[in-house]
Amino acid sequence: MAEFFEENKPMGYDELIRAVQLLRWRYKFVQRFSIGKSVLGRRIPAIVIGTGAHPILYVGAHHALEYMTSMVLIKFAGELCAHIESGEKFHDKNVRAILTRQSIYIIPMLNPDGVELHLKGLSTAFGMKERLIRISGGNFDNWQANARGVDLNHNYNAGFKTLRLMEIEKGITGPAPSQFGGYRPESEPETHALCNLCRRMLFRRAYAFHSQGEEIFWKYGDRTPKISLEIARALAEASGYTVSMPEGLASHGGFKDWYINVFRKPGFTIEIGKGKNPLPISEFSNIYNKIEKMLVLGLVL
Ligand SMILES: [Zn+2]
Repeated sequence: MAEFFEENKPMGYDELIRAVQLLRWRYKFVQRFSIGKSVLGRRIPAIVIGTGAHPILYVGAHHALEYMTSMVLIKFAGELCAHIESGEKFHDKNVRAILTRQSIYIIPMLNPDGVELHLKGLSTAFGMKERLIRISGGNFDNWQANARGVDLNHNYNAGFKTLRLMEIEKGITGPAPSQFGGYRPESEPETHALCNLCRRMLFRRAYAFHSQGEEIFWKYGDRTPKISLEIARALAEASGYTVSMPEGLASHGGFKDWYINVFRKPGFTIEIGKGKNPLPISEFSNIYNKIEKMLVLGLVL
């Protein structure tokens, strides 16, 4: 199958845009659009595959150090398209038939500004340089946030006040490299664009990809559907990952929390790989191969 990006290099924003373009050129049935723009004006691309009426969502790279999730999602999109074109089964699933009944929206990189800051530093920050120097000290080695120092996965309207108090208790009171959730939910253009897309599309399932830990999180409060745990177990069986419950600052304000709370449908956080972020690029193939079957299964569960 065609390669859409270099698997031995971290995926920055330019590589992402090129990969999406190549995918679209190679497979005419792929649609793409942007869900909105980042703080620094980068378009946030979405890939749509399938013609059915029941969409599901895969979203990656809420966090800057987790760009490997973008690589996983682009590679998966390419493999999915190759199997749709050939008509061959993909991990025992007839994906061509499945994707006439439903569709998948893939947003590989929700936080392009953060990824660029981490990979390439201040030169990618345009008018935000001064402010970013104040927040980061000029070092983006551990940068997870967007270009305003907001942690996008703390910026959703699910237990937001509780989370804010927990952040303050931990000494995080304003813009920071990670874990500051903003002054109000959906304050950031990236999270607002994703929430708007969800409100418009009413996805049947939503999966947010993060790293690391080889874990699957499925629960948020009383509104979690009963079937969520069953799905999480099936995903775990397909990947060897562990079914987990969130703790501490990860227990509110996340995308999957908001999605479950608002739509009462199964939403998941999947932590890919194991080790320290950013995961070593040499691990990409192993990480992808371990979860490909789970990614296919996510289409039908
Ligand atoms: Zn994350």
